[in-house]
Amino acid sequence: MSESKSKYAYEKKCAWDQFNKSEIKKAFDFAEYYKTFLNNAKTEREAISLIQDLAKKGKKKIIVNRGKEAALVVKGKKPINDGLRIVIAHVDSPRLDLKQVPLYEDGESKLALVETHYYGGIKKFHWLTIPLALHGVVVKKDGKTVTFALGEKDNDPVFCVSDLLPHLSHEVQDNKKITEAFKGENLDLVVGNIPAKGEVKEKIKAAILEQLHRDYGLIEEDFISAELEAVPAFKAKDAGFDRSLVAAYGQDDRACVFTSLKALLDSNTPEYTAIALFVDKEEIGSEGNTTAQVTTFLRSIIKTLDPAADVDAVMLKSKVISADVNAAVTPNYIDVFELKNASALGQGVVMSKYTGHGGKYAANDATAEYIAEIRTLLNAQNIPWQTAELGKVDKGGGGTVAKYFSRLGMEVVDLGPAVLSMHSPYEITSKIDIYATYLAYKTFFTS
Ligand code: MN
Ligand code: MN
Repeated sequence: MSESKSKYAYEKKCAWDQFNKSEIKKAFDFAEYYKTFLNNAKTEREAISLIQDLAKKGKKKIIVNRGKEAALVVKGKKPINDGLRIVIAHVDSPRLDLKQVPLYEDGESKLALVETHYYGGIKKFHWLTIPLALHGVVVKKDGKTVTFALGEKDNDPVFCVSDLLPHLSHEVQDNKKITEAFKGENLDLVVGNIPAKGEVKEKIKAAILEQLHRDYGLIEEDFISAELEAVPAFKAKDAGFDRSLVAAYGQDDRACVFTSLKALLDSNTPEYTAIALFVDKEEIGSEGNTTAQVTTFLRSIIKTLDPAADVDAVMLKSKVISADVNAAVTPNYIDVFELKNASALGQGVVMSKYTGHGGKYAANDATAEYIAEIRTLLNAQNIPWQTAELGKVDKGGGGTVAKYFSRLGMEVVDLGPAVLSMHSPYEITSKIDIYATYLAYKTFFTS
C-alpha cells in the first residue's frame, strides 16, 4: 500500500504549481516593471520621488514628507471613522554612507579614497571589490542641491572598496574570525590616482577636490551637508536558466514598496480608505522624523481626510499589513531554519505571525483572529502563501515596523516575499512570489 498524507495535513503549496500558464505569464510581465523600478529607485529619496511620479501618472493622491516618506491615499466608500486599510513598506536598504569628512589621500598606495560608515546590517566582505555607484544629495552653502547618481550609466565611472590578494591574506584575514578580518572602518572607496601639479600638499586629494569643484561646484566642506550613499552599481536581472528569479540590490524592502504601490494604483474605489505608506530608516531601527516610530505624519493624513475624525478611534479600527520580506531557506545552510516554519522561494507570499528574537522579544505577535482573517482572504482569491518565522528558535532574529503600528492599537501582521541572500548587494527573489505579494496587497486593500 502506498503511503499518502492525511487530507487534514497542512502542506506548503508550490506557487508555480498553483498558478496556471496565463498567471505565470502575468508574473513574468510584472517582473519587468519591477526590475525597472528597482533600477530607478536605489535609495530612499529616489524611491519616494519615483513613487510620487507614478502616483501622479495614475492620478492618485500622494503626500510626501521631507522627500523620504510618502503616503498614497485612495478614499474608500465608508467614512474614515470606520478605519483604514494600510500597507507599510520601507524605502531604505543597507548601503555604505559617506562620512562627513570623507576624502583623504593614502600616501603609500598613492590613492585618493573616501571614508564610509555602513548603514544597516551588512556582512562587510560582501561590499569588497564590487562596482558601487554614488547616489544622493549634496546641499551646498548657498542652499543649492547637487544630486548624484554616478556609476549607473554604461560610461560612468564606478567606485570600489579594495581587498587584499589571497597570496598575502593568510595572516591578516584567513586565520581570523570573519568579524575581525573585515572591519567597518576599512570600507573605504577608491576615488582617484592622478596627482595635481604644483606645490600643493596631498596632490591626489587636491586634484580630486579640483575636479569636484570643476564638475559640480563643490568644496570639501560641502560633504558635511551631504547624504551620499554607495550602492551596488549592478542592474536588476533575471536569474536562472528558467529566468524564474530576480537578482537585484535593495529588494528588502523595495519588493514590498513596488508591489504595494502597484496594488493600490491598480485598485478601484475600495470599501475602506486605503493607504500605501512608505517609510524610511527601518534598517537602523526606525529612528528619525520620516520613520514608522513617528506617527505625526499618519495622524495629519487622517485629519486631512476628515477634519472631524477621532484619530485614535480611527487607528483602533484600522487594519495593517507590515509589508516586509522574510528569509528564504538558503541552500547549504538549512541548519539555521526550522523547515516546517520557514519560507522558501516560489512558495508564495510569506505571512509571519511574529518576528523578534529569543522568547519573541521585540515582536508584534499578531492575533490568531487577524491571521485567520488574512488567511481566509488569501485562500478565497487562491493566492499562494506560506507561513514562516525567521530561522530556528534562538538562532538569531530580526524585526519589522509591525510593532510600531500595533502600538497605535491597529491590527498588524507581516506579509511579504521571501528573499535569498537578504541584506547582500545582490538579493534574489522569485518572480511568482513577487506577483503573489502584489495580488495579496491588492486583495487586502479592497477587502
Ligand atoms: Mn525589511
Ligand atoms: Mn532589512
